[in-house]
Amino acid sequence: MSDYLVSEKTLAGFFTALATGRRLLAPQGQGDDCRLAETTGPVSLDYANTHLSPKGVFFPQTEKILAFHKLADKPKANQYQDLGDQAQPTVIFGLRPCDARGLTVSNRVFQNDRFTDPYWKGKYESAIKIGLACLNPSPQCFCAAMGGSPFGEMGLDVLAYPKDQGLGLKALTPAGEEILKKAQAEPADLAADMAALEKKAIQSQGSLDDYATINERKIMELYKADHWAKTAEPCLGCGVCTFFCPTCHCFDIQDEQNEVGGVRMRNWDTCMSPLFTLHGSGHNPRPSKVERVRQRFMHKLKYIPLKQDGVRGCTGCGRCVVMCPANIDIRSVAAVMAQASA
Ligand code: SF4
Ligand code: SF4
Repeated sequence: MSDYLVSEKTLAGFFTALATGRRLLAPQGQGDDCRLAETTGPVSLDYANTHLSPKGVFFPQTEKILAFHKLADKPKANQYQDLGDQAQPTVIFGLRPCDARGLTVSNRVFQNDRFTDPYWKGKYESAIKIGLACLNPSPQCFCAAMGGSPFGEMGLDVLAYPKDQGLGLKALTPAGEEILKKAQAEPADLAADMAALEKKAIQSQGSLDDYATINERKIMELYKADHWAKTAEPCLGCGVCTFFCPTCHCFDIQDEQNEVGGVRMRNWDTCMSPLFTLHGSGHNPRPSKVERVRQRFMHKLKYIPLKQDGVRGCTGCGRCVVMCPANIDIRSVAAVMAQASA
C-alpha cells in the first residue's frame, strides 16, 4: 500500500471525485456542532470529533426492517416484506481513528461465525472508510490509553491527515488504494512525517496505568468491589452515555401498526434503563441503578477485552465524558476500579 498527497489547490476536486458515483458523508459544521452529512464538498477539517458517533450510518437510531400489510380478502392474514439492508455505495471521510476502531467492536457483534445481521452487513461492508488522524487530541480524548492511537488504522481503508492546507493519505486496503488513484491523489512518501506526528499526538494524552491494572485484576474482584454504590450515586439513568458511544449497540424491536398494516422498527436501546433487562415474567436481573452502572463500566473496561482480541468496549473517544449530565467520567471510574478493594 502507498502514501499519497492532495494539495490545497486540488482539494475541492478530490472531494468531488470521492462523491462521484456514490454518496460522500463527511464532517459538516464546526466545534460541538460538527456532524457527518452528505456533501460533495467543502469538508470541515476543524473539529475535535463529530458530535454523534458514526455508528448511526450503519446502525440507524431507528430503522424499518420489515413491512406488513393486511390482506383485504383475509383480514386475519398479513403479507410481509423484508426491507433488507438498504445499503447504498458510500464513502465516509473524516472518521476519527477511535470511532473506526469502535465500529469494529460492533461489527463483531453484528457479523461473526454464528450470526450475520443483514441490516448492518451491507452498509458496513459497502462503505469505504477514510479516517482523519488527530494532530491535537482534545483534553477528553484518551484513545492511546485504550490501546488505540490518534493515527490508528484499525477499521479504515485510508488514513488521512491535514498537511500543508491539503491532505496526506495512507492507503490501508486495496479499496482505499483504488479510490485514491481514481481521485488522482499524488504518490508520496509520508512514513517519517506520520510517525513523528503520531508520537507527538500520543504524548499529549493521559497515562495507561489504571487500565493496565484493571486488565490484571480478576473479574469477580472488580464486580464485588465496594465502590459501586458511590460510583452510581450521581447517575440519572438517562442513557446519554450509551447513545453517544461508538461501541454501544443494544437495540429493541417494536411493531407499529394500524388497521391496514405496519412496520417493524429496530430502535437503539440502553442498558442504563431499568426496562432494558425486564423479562416478560416480571423478573429483572439488573433491577437497581448500582447494578446497571456496574454493568456499563465492567462491559466497557473488563468484559469485552477478554472476548474480542484485546479491543476494549471503550475506545477513548471521550463523548460520554463530555455529554454525561451528572459529570461521570469513565477515566475517573477506571481509576477507582483499579484501586478499589473487593
Ligand atoms: S450519561 Fe451519565 S447520568 Fe446518563 S446514564 Fe450515563 S452515566 Fe448515568
Ligand atoms: S465509553 Fe465513553 S469514551 Fe469510551 S468509547 Fe464509549 S463514549 Fe467513548
